[in-house]
Amino acid sequence: MNIADILFTNAILLTMDNESHQYEPGALAVQAGNIMAVGAEAEVKAAFSAHETIDCGGKILMPGLVNAHTHVPMTLLRGLADDLRLDVWLMGYMMPVEREFVSPDFVRLGTRVAAAELIRSGVTCFADMYYFEETVAQTVAEIGLRALCAQTVLKYPAPDAQSYEESLASAREFITRWKGHDLVIPSVAPHAPYTCTEEILRATAALAVEFDVPLHTHLAETTIEVEKSWREFDMSIIPYVKKQNLFDAKVLAAHCVHIDDGEIHTLVHHKAGVAHNPSSNLKLASGFAPVSKMLAEGLNVGIGTDGPASNNDLDMFEEIRLAAFIAKIVTNDPTSLPAHTALEMATRLGANALHLGHLTGSLETGKSADLILVDLSTLHNSPRFRRDALGIYAQLVYAAKSSDVSDVMVNGKWLMRDRQLLTMNEQDLYAQVDDYARRIDIFLIQREKSVLSKLIAIGGAMEGESFEVQAKVRIADPEPVLKTVKEPEIEILHRRHYLEYDTYFLFEDPNQGTLRYREDEIIDESGKVSNIRDRLTLIGPAREHQFPSDVLLSRSRYLAEATHSHRFYREYFKPSGEVFIQKDRRRWRVLFQGTEFFINLDHVEKPDLGYFLEVKSRTWSRKDAEHKALTATMLIEFLGASTEERVQMDYLEIAEDHPTGGINT
Ligand SMILES: [Zn+2]
Repeated sequence: MNIADILFTNAILLTMDNESHQYEPGALAVQAGNIMAVGAEAEVKAAFSAHETIDCGGKILMPGLVNAHTHVPMTLLRGLADDLRLDVWLMGYMMPVEREFVSPDFVRLGTRVAAAELIRSGVTCFADMYYFEETVAQTVAEIGLRALCAQTVLKYPAPDAQSYEESLASAREFITRWKGHDLVIPSVAPHAPYTCTEEILRATAALAVEFDVPLHTHLAETTIEVEKSWREFDMSIIPYVKKQNLFDAKVLAAHCVHIDDGEIHTLVHHKAGVAHNPSSNLKLASGFAPVSKMLAEGLNVGIGTDGPASNNDLDMFEEIRLAAFIAKIVTNDPTSLPAHTALEMATRLGANALHLGHLTGSLETGKSADLILVDLSTLHNSPRFRRDALGIYAQLVYAAKSSDVSDVMVNGKWLMRDRQLLTMNEQDLYAQVDDYARRIDIFLIQREKSVLSKLIAIGGAMEGESFEVQAKVRIADPEPVLKTVKEPEIEILHRRHYLEYDTYFLFEDPNQGTLRYREDEIIDESGKVSNIRDRLTLIGPAREHQFPSDVLLSRSRYLAEATHSHRFYREYFKPSGEVFIQKDRRRWRVLFQGTEFFINLDHVEKPDLGYFLEVKSRTWSRKDAEHKALTATMLIEFLGASTEERVQMDYLEIAEDHPTGGINT
């Protein structure tokens, strides 16, 4: 007779193997962390004795759940910003807070909080993606969970790297250190196509191939992402990343919400795994992934909670149930995604999606002893019908709760017995978590007070053109200007023709200034649009100085590339009103009496305000400004415009006073 370390007996044993074998009563033998035997109790008991026999008392013995996609340290950001669109949530809140707070200490604490929650809800293996993944790996290994840990690489500066080259190098070191570990499977995570460059996608794929480790990423999560891909690359997400050789690697792709049949075939062909995230897709209104189709085509689709900042919990029981429910409503067919399939997704298929199917995901001889006991003897699980063998899966998926999980074992080692965590102490976490919340609250409260700090928080804002003399006059006829600008007294250095579409965001507190979102269409010689440029300018509230000649030294300005959409800025900055101004602008950079000026000849089309002539020059000192202010006046007069028509206001203020000023509040 063989001697095992542990023999489980008297269980409702759900193997979740390919044939869905179940045994009641069933038994399972564990030796050195691996499953030695699994089957009917009488047979296993006949072949094995053990150092320790555990009577399961009629509980369910099944493989531990696989959370196929999450960001565990984000437990510390749970509830920080909710009910926002993905881009505003991610770029406006998560990333700025992460840049400020995420450190190895943060990651360690967040991972510990997550680990407690994961173990309590029956998870034995999860796929993570975050910064300082080294710390996630260390923490997970100490606690004893199994995890695919993916070090994030993206094009923005990250909490753990100034550049993508730096994060790629640390991903390489991380993989080198952890490759071959019992519990931690190292991986690299190009965050998503929209946060990575082609170069990053190629480099991370090459790295994953070199070390033969999985590659974890987000693909086709929102329609915005897919539309952007069509606009920029003239193709959808899956062909785009395929072109960057992503599928040379063993890919685990989270979401895949917006993919078509052809893209599903590409994923099947390249044996990619998919992580379906029902709560996150619902909460962020990302859409409904074609899960039934993907499963029918033979894809390994697992279930993930996504990060606890977008869910907001790590409860896999809830996730499994939602996966089943959503598939039914989407296909308008209650027979879609039955409970048994949903549970397969959360176990064997999930492990396959992580490319760890050889290790975990089902109770089979040779696999690791990653298992849980679930107590169905509670009233909310009663009664139990035995007529249909599939009934037990429905019981687990539709009635059971994560709190019914009583015991959790990973790699043959107990992490929880009778709902007591054995490898970590939860009590010391509360105070530390609250301390982070307090500090993040202070940071965000401070930031939300000012439009400028919000602008800086989303990156790329630069103070610019703070000192500028500026004179503007209203003109009836542009022809004299067009003619005079060619006179020899004016040396033209550069000329441009634009159509400018400006949206001014107004704020209740005038001290916040005005934020201008400008889209420029640059018109070439032939009158066609040759280029489009988006810019964001925060215009300070007060004029710095006004000269007697009505030429003003302009207000402070902060410039940023407008890398997001108009809609993003509206949702992020929440202005109290907006004014839209459209104008046709001819601009010359000229030398006049030894001074460099910009001459702008504007036709304000919306609202219909007519023609304006503006001259501007950068300046460096008060004395220089006084001199330039005088020259500006001379230039205006030289161009044939009357200084009587001088206006001190900018277009925004004129538009506000104008009866058809297009103000919408
Ligand atoms: Zn995610």
